[in-house]
Amino acid sequence: MQNRVYNFSAGPAVLPEDVLKEAQENLFALPGVGMSILEISHRSKTFDKIIDEAKADLRSLLDINDDYDLLFLQGGASLQFSMVPVNLMPPKNKADYILTGSWSKKALKEAKRVGAVNVAATTESENFNRIPKQEELKLDPDASYVHFTSNNTIFGTEWHTEPNVGNVPLVCDASSDILSKKIDVKKYGVIYAGAQKNMGPSGVTLVIIRKDLLERSSDSLHTMLNYKIHAENGSMYNTPSTFGIYIIGLVAKWLIKNGGLDAMYKTNKEKAGLLYKCIDESNGFYKGHALPDSRSLMNVTFRLATEELEKKLISEATAAGFDGVKGHRSVGGLRASIYNAFPKKGVEDLVKFMKEFQSKNG
Ligand SMILES: *Cc1c(COP(=O)(O)O)cnc(C)c1O
Repeated sequence: MQNRVYNFSAGPAVLPEDVLKEAQENLFALPGVGMSILEISHRSKTFDKIIDEAKADLRSLLDINDDYDLLFLQGGASLQFSMVPVNLMPPKNKADYILTGSWSKKALKEAKRVGAVNVAATTESENFNRIPKQEELKLDPDASYVHFTSNNTIFGTEWHTEPNVGNVPLVCDASSDILSKKIDVKKYGVIYAGAQKNMGPSGVTLVIIRKDLLERSSDSLHTMLNYKIHAENGSMYNTPSTFGIYIIGLVAKWLIKNGGLDAMYKTNKEKAGLLYKCIDESNGFYKGHALPDSRSLMNVTFRLATEELEKKLISEATAAGFDGVKGHRSVGGLRASIYNAFPKKGVEDLVKFMKEFQSKNG
């Protein structure tokens, strides 16, 4: 097998090696089926079993009860920026959005096409280096829902507890931290996540939706934009991303086998802790973008004194087998995305590399 480098990409991102190997082994023909996952009908018994098991395993990992439906849709998290408001904003046509980065701004942009949107809080003037505090939120108790982004992939900040929104349904874009830790799903109306950060390949989006909210979807909506129709058809109104769902299923089994989300969370804290420690102990050589109490366990963002030094570090790191560490242009510097499947050894090696770089260039 070809050598693999350490993949710090923000997404599509690293997947568990066991999952890749199993998918590779069975790609030519699924055991006992004689056809590839890429060739079978989404209406077949084989696929029924794959999608049902994926849902059951996700339900068990996240402790999701029967008040919720699980949908596998397409169009990425970006289509959810539109589906959420067209389905959930009427009839009041007003919603609260908490802005903590580029993705929540994009969600807001689509919501504005549907109704009146209140920015309940924003940290944009601080270049989104922190999560707003509860007392900063200016929530409308009569809003149709409150939208927030649980992990800000670009800026490297993460909510460590959900905003408290009373009885208004809470809607969360969890694309880049879903399955990284346990959450109390009962606090949410909708959770959506593109698979390609922490769950699987691109091309499939998980939507967890409280069933009573499906009643808000109007019959006048375009069919493919209607949550209720997708729910009634078990995510098979049209052909779903069969391969994507298959891989999500394998990832869910891998998570269960490795101790579930509590074990994942513990490892994620250790991995991120190593990098933040290196940043904090560098005497200012490395400067973290996120304020300490808002730091993400998934995306660690930091800068150096000059762009020249950043370029040098990125190119030396890439040459040494640390791929994808260049930061997003809106923050600059570096970003290490260390999702569930990213090995702890890779973080340890990066830290060693960063320390050596500092001693040569500090
Ligand atoms: C990557 C990302 C998106 C966009 O996902 P697509 O699947 O490309 O539409 C949205 N929100 C967050 C938090 C992301 O990290």
